[in-house]
Formats: sequence, structure tokens, C-alpha cells
Amino acid sequence: MLSIFQTPIEYLKGVGSKKAEILKKEANLFTLQDLLLYFPYKYADKSHFFRICDIPGNPQAHLQIKGKITHLTVTGANRSKRLVALFQDGSGSMELVWFHGIPYMEKYLQTNQEYIVFGKPQLFNNLYSIIHPEISPVTENAPKQGIQIAFQPFYNTTDKMKRAGLDSRSISKLCLQLLNEYGGHITETLPAYLREACRLMPERQALLNIHFPQSNALLRAAQYRLKFDEMFFLQLELLQKKLIHTTRAQGFAMPKVGTLFHACYDKLPFELTAAQKRVIKEIRQDLISGKQMNRLLQGDVGSGKTITALLVMLMAMDNGFQSCLMAPTEILAEQHYEGICKFLDGMEVKVALLTGSTKASQRKILLEQLKNGELQILIGTHALIEEQVLFHSLGLAVIDEQHRFGVDQRAKLWRKNNPPPHVLIMTATPIPRTLAMTVYGDLNISVIDEVPKNRKPVITRHFPQTAWSQIVPFLQQQIGEGRQIFVVFPLIQESEALDLQNLIDGYEQFRLYFPEPRYHLSYVHGQMGSEEKNREMENFASGKTQLLLATSVIEVGIDIPNANVMVIENAERFGLSQLHQLRGRVGRGSAQSYCLLLTGDKLGYESRRRIQAMVNSNNGFEIADFDLKLRGPGDMAGTRQSGMLEFRIVDLAKDEKLIAYCRQLAAQVLERDPILQKEENAEIRYHLQANPSSKIDYLQIS
Ligand code: ADP
Ligand code: MG
Repeated sequence: MLSIFQTPIEYLKGVGSKKAEILKKEANLFTLQDLLLYFPYKYADKSHFFRICDIPGNPQAHLQIKGKITHLTVTGANRSKRLVALFQDGSGSMELVWFHGIPYMEKYLQTNQEYIVFGKPQLFNNLYSIIHPEISPVTENAPKQGIQIAFQPFYNTTDKMKRAGLDSRSISKLCLQLLNEYGGHITETLPAYLREACRLMPERQALLNIHFPQSNALLRAAQYRLKFDEMFFLQLELLQKKLIHTTRAQGFAMPKVGTLFHACYDKLPFELTAAQKRVIKEIRQDLISGKQMNRLLQGDVGSGKTITALLVMLMAMDNGFQSCLMAPTEILAEQHYEGICKFLDGMEVKVALLTGSTKASQRKILLEQLKNGELQILIGTHALIEEQVLFHSLGLAVIDEQHRFGVDQRAKLWRKNNPPPHVLIMTATPIPRTLAMTVYGDLNISVIDEVPKNRKPVITRHFPQTAWSQIVPFLQQQIGEGRQIFVVFPLIQESEALDLQNLIDGYEQFRLYFPEPRYHLSYVHGQMGSEEKNREMENFASGKTQLLLATSVIEVGIDIPNANVMVIENAERFGLSQLHQLRGRVGRGSAQSYCLLLTGDKLGYESRRRIQAMVNSNNGFEIADFDLKLRGPGDMAGTRQSGMLEFRIVDLAKDEKLIAYCRQLAAQVLERDPILQKEENAEIRYHLQANPSSKIDYLQIS
């Protein structure tokens, strides 16, 4: 059944084919429904009249005033020619000014007639004036039919729209026309039981009040209802997808917790944090379920994701399965390999590393052992997903730093076994809960929300770029105590050449401050060959050099516990989450660690707040939350395509409670009626069928 609101927009009275073209091109308004859902971005109060003497000093809003014109004059010549009306309401006087249509207005306007005027007053020579106000005689306002305008809505328009006579005021007239003519056809999208339980205003009333609010209270109720609609239906679809996935996708059942797991666990050099233990339990529930696991593991830098993943891999092995761990860069894959070998020291587990630089002869042996099952854990880069890499029985795939990998790369991992292996995605980009619920709504999520107790929080300080005389002695003193130092230069996206130049200039500078033979410097950047890069990193990791100068290639993962100072040049050029990631490179050893943020003298307001947030907090989730509030969700690192985050009326940064509430309600509805076939959910079913979310396309995991 096609709704009447699918009617093309040109059939609305007052639109026609020419304007329809513009509405389609400029605002994506194709149908009556599109217009119905084109919500105003603000409103001006027309429910009462302002007295001229009460106009605030610097009015920011449109105001409505009732009064009489006492005097009309045309002044100025040529381009400054204007019609000026002196307007009085008994409390004071002001001017109304017209630059265009003067002959018409001169005839139209009458002195001593009472008018209602609407517009934004400006203060000029101690007198308020409104340029090109909306004006209508009071008599015309007498008994009206249809919708009363208590608040004037304002709609987004473009220059092209305005030139075609489609300014905000005309859009509001079209919406008025639409609601007057078709308002009766608006159907309810939610069943009565839900509307009552959640105290939601009816759909029809909500759409009416979002365009033409009859009062402030009704506007708030309408906004709430429409936000609810938007988020509830999205969550419903996400959860439905997840449900279908978990009921259909068979996975390997791994019921045993066996000797390998215990052997490793018992000889860990530290006690797992409570959060690590909880996450392992959550994952274990998935592994014994017989359904395929798709889980996101979030944990701040240094929270110990690797050992958590390793213990899960050992669980898989105790049940006779192989595992793999895929990292986004060679350096990271190598670090994982070395770290994991250390944890497994003395145990009967065969682990191998496969990257682009693995030698052909070695690779051949390795692939053979992988196929016959001799090799149990394979660690590597995306070399892992190449077709020649065949597993004997891959039961678990762990992916580190997920946002570096595309969806199709994940899919390739999936096809390495049938049924597909369990998938654990690890990310150090802390995503606020609301965002995770939405962006990763189809995955199960585990969070390691604490760092090991033995960590000393990193001390973060902000310095102007010119403060070298203070900083250099401090760095020399740290090196004197046997420590090492990271120095990071910003990546300038537009120009790799500039980027490199920055680093080279920096290198020259540092050589002066830290001369040979007392000091040794390494440097790495994105354009270096991997062999050279590895050599430089190796020199730093082994302590041959004391300073590592780098572009932000060291952002993720690498673990050099002896490095305890992170210097970030032009810190204002980095995003907050990136700064936090970089800071996570230090604070891993026992010494007190420092993060020095250097910026130019003239910092913008936003940059200042970001740097301040870094100085004030060591908690990645707090920082991510702050970032979301400051910049909006579109800019969050580690999120999927941004279309995922564009909402009509929901604000991911502000509507956190509502999002959680909608998700919970959607889960309840699906629990009672998984495929929405019950009569009580008929409205939901119809609405979903007619309006599938475009966001779901972004979420294809298989
Ligand atoms: P990330 O979550 O950033 O990947 P890692 O897994 O690299 O963190 O862990 C950082 C360091 O902390 C490693 O050296 C690891 O061995 C150590 N570690 C992990 N868990 C604990 C713990 N519970 N107590 C102490 N140290 C731990
Ligand atoms: Mg890591």
C-alpha cells in the first residue's frame, strides 16, 4: 500500500514543476513525506506581542509587535532610496524600513491602521528598526480556519532556493498547505501500548507541532516524540539484525576451559584487572553458545587488551581450534608476536608471524603447518587474509584496531572457515556509549574500563612552542636517568612533502639541542621504506637511541615501556582522540611519565578547550565524551561512514538517555515478538516495511 505521502512534491499546491526541481536538487525533497519530515531548525514566538519598550538591548530573535504607523517617508536617492515608517505601540516608537518594492508598499501601508509586525529589530542611532518586516493589518487576523501560527518556524534554505522564491517563509507556507490539506492522513507509527507507556504524543499531533508549535510545551513534546521515532526504529532494526544473525549463524561450540588457558593464566606476572576478568567471562558465554560471536572489545590504551585476547585464543585452542590475530601494521604485528611469545614461554603452543616481509621459503613452511594444523596461532598483517592462507580449523579471529580495516577485509577472514570463526574486534578508540550503541548496534560490546593498578597516571602539561629553554633541560634530565623520549610532529594531510619538511626541520633543531656523541636520535615517517623504518624503530626499542622523532605513524599500539616522555609538536593540529592515543604510548613502565603538548601562542577557543581537556583527564572515555560534545559525532575517529551518524532530529551528543531508553524498549518488544508478527505490533511492522532505514546498509558485516 503506497501512502499518500509518497506523492511527488510537485503536486502540492504552490510548488509546481520548476520549484519542485529546485527542492529536489537543493534539499532532497522529492515527496510530500520528505517535506513533512523537513523540520524547522528554530522558531520565533508569535504567541504574544512584545512592547517596543521591552525589546532587549541586542535582540537575537524575531519578535512580534502590534502598533500603528504614524508617519511614512521616502528618503535617500538611487541605491540608498528607502521607505521609512515610524511605528508606535504606546510604549515607544521604532522604524520599519523597505529598500525594495517601495511604490507598492507606499500604496499598501496606511497610517493609523493597526498592524502586526514581525521581524528582527536592530538598534541604530538609539532607535530600533526592522528591515523588510512581515506586516499585516490586524483585521486580517480575525477568525481563521486551520492551523494557527503561534511560533514562526525557520527552515534551512540555500541561495538557489531563495533565488527561486523558496525562502524559509515560503517553505513554511508550503508546510502549512501540506498539513492543512493532508494532515488528516498522517497515520500512527507506534502501538497505543507503547505510546501510553512512554507518554508519547500522537504522531499526527507531533508532526503538526514540530512545524507549527501551538505552545512551548507542545513543541517539546513533539520533539521528544519525533526523536523517539527516529531512534526507536533504528534500534529496532539494529537489534533485529543482530537477532537474525545470532539465531541463524552457526558457530563452533567451545565448551572447554582447558589446560592451556590455565597454564598461561596461572603464570601471568600480574593479576588481571576486574574488567579483564569480566570481559573474558562475557566472551566465554559467546563461545559456549554454539552461535557465531561478533564482539567489539573496547579498552583504553594500556588497558591490557592483548592478554585478554590471548587468553581467549587459548580457550579456542583448548577446544581444538586455531586462532589468528590481525594487526594493521607490521610493527604492531611484530610487537604482538613478541609479546605473545613471552606470555607463552615454556608452553607447548606453536605461534608464527606472517607479514609482507616474511621470506618466501619461511612462508611456504608456515602455510604448510597452518594447513595441517601444526601451527596454532598465526599473527600478522592483512597478509593473513590472502587466499593462499588456508587454515586447518580456524575457530577465532581477533582483529586489532578495527577502524583501519575495511568491511570486505573482515569478510575475507570470515570465509576462512565454515561455519565462520568467532570474531573479536579490538579497538582503543573509546567511543561514547551512545555512539557505540548506534554505530556498532549490531555487535555485542565488551568494555575494559579500567587500567592496571600499578600504572601511574601520565602528567600532562601545556607549553607554548617557544618554551624550549624550559623543556630541553627537562628532557636532558630524563635521558640522564636512562629514559627515552618520543617527539611527534603533526601529519599535514594536504601535503606529505610539508609533513616531511616539518620533521626534517625538527630533526635539525633537535640535533642542536641533543648533540652527538652524548645523544642519539631516530626518526620515522610515512614515506620511509619498511626496512628503514623497522631499523630506526629497532634502534629506539633496543635503547640505542634516546629520542624518536616521528610523524603520527607511532599513533597506535607500539609498546616501549622505557619511553616515558611524549612531546607533541603543534598539538592543536591533532584531534582529541588522537592526542589521547599518542599519550597512551607512555605510562607503560614503572617510572613517572609525562606528556608535553606544545602549541602556537594564538590558540582558538576550541583548541584551548581541547588541550585543557587533555591536561585535565587521563580517561579515554571522558575525553571521547567531551570530544563528542565539542565537535559532534561526525568527527569522531574510529566511527564508520559518517552517513551513519546523520540524524534528522536526534542529537547523539545530547540525547544519550533517550538512545539507551529506545534500545531497551526495542529489545523488550523483540523479546516478546521477534519477527513483529503480533497484532499489537502492527503499526511498527507497517512503518518498518514502508520506511527501512538507510543506515542499516552501513552495517553489513558479512
Ligand atoms: P592495549 O589495551 O593498549 O593493547 P596492552 O595489551 O598492550 O594494552 O597492555 C599494555 C601493557 O600492560 C602490556 O605490557 C601488558 O603486558 C600489561 N598488562 C596487561 N594487563 C595487565 C594487568 N592486569 N596488570 C598489569 N599489567 C598488565
Ligand atoms: Mg594494543
